Amino acid sequence: MGLLEGKNAVVFGVANKYSIAWAIAQAFHREGANVGISYAGPVMEKRVRPLAEKLGLEFVEPCDVTQDDQIEAIAQKAKEHFGRVDILVHSIAYAERDDLMNPFYQTSRKGFHTAMDISVYSFIALARAFQPLMTEGGAMVTLTYYGGEKVAPGYNVMGVAKAALEASMRYLAYNFGPMGIRVNAISAGPIKTLAASGVPGFRTMHKTFPYLAPLKQPVSQEDVANAAVFLCSDLSAKVTGHVLFVDCGVNIMAFPDLEALKALQEEA
Ligand code: NAD
Repeated sequence: MGLLEGKNAVVFGVANKYSIAWAIAQAFHREGANVGISYAGPVMEKRVRPLAEKLGLEFVEPCDVTQDDQIEAIAQKAKEHFGRVDILVHSIAYAERDDLMNPFYQTSRKGFHTAMDISVYSFIALARAFQPLMTEGGAMVTLTYYGGEKVAPGYNVMGVAKAALEASMRYLAYNFGPMGIRVNAISAGPIKTLAASGVPGFRTMHKTFPYLAPLKQPVSQEDVANAAVFLCSDLSAKVTGHVLFVDCGVNIMAFPDLEALKALQEEA
């Protein structure tokens, strides 16, 4: 029997087959959940529909999370389709290119608002819309990155957004705790995806990562998806308000492994 047997899950943030959200949807399906997915809009549809068909998913809905009416509409559709929802996954982030390319202090007011709206407020808005559907308790998970805790060069406004996202996750966990709804975040190591390709220096970071990580390995979408299964299953019944690192241990390091870096340079 799967770890999520009998649970209804809605996963936001599928853009293509590389999306972390897609790996999560597949892992949930593997564990017996009844899975629905959401994508940003028409541009994504041609990539997302064929993926959904492969798994035989019936609930495949667009939602631009900057639009309150679209959030309300998808929650209503989820209610009609699933009745009860047990799991909500928020795997969404966006920042303007200029605000990632320029030094952080040049972040524009508009760019700041955009990053915070799409990457942070959307989690609060989705959580609010889906909470009434979690009539038997539930689990909500969002995706974050260590750049929200420490400076990651080039991550800029997205780092500030991740800090706010993690704080929002804790406040949601506090609000929803009495309702039996757990809210957690996964802090993932670098994975090649559409969103990651917009972060300056990502390729170098991705290549260097296994040398710096205590586990000496890269992190995959599947690694993150399996952690999401844990956080959305009854195995983590007493875990809420937590940031779970899936980063091969990089966050425990106070100083980079210089010997490993030297080995990498010699290889290059
Ligand atoms: P991705 O590009 O596949 O996913 C980002 C998603 O955000 C896309 O599906 C995109 O359509 C969606 N999105 C952007 N604007 C939207 C809007 N207005 N309405 C609805 N959806 C919108 O990339 P990913 O790496 O899978 O990113 C998923 C999450 O994981 C993000 O929060 C990201 O910050 C986080 N994360 C990624 C990494 C990594 O290295 N890839 C590491 C840590 C955390």
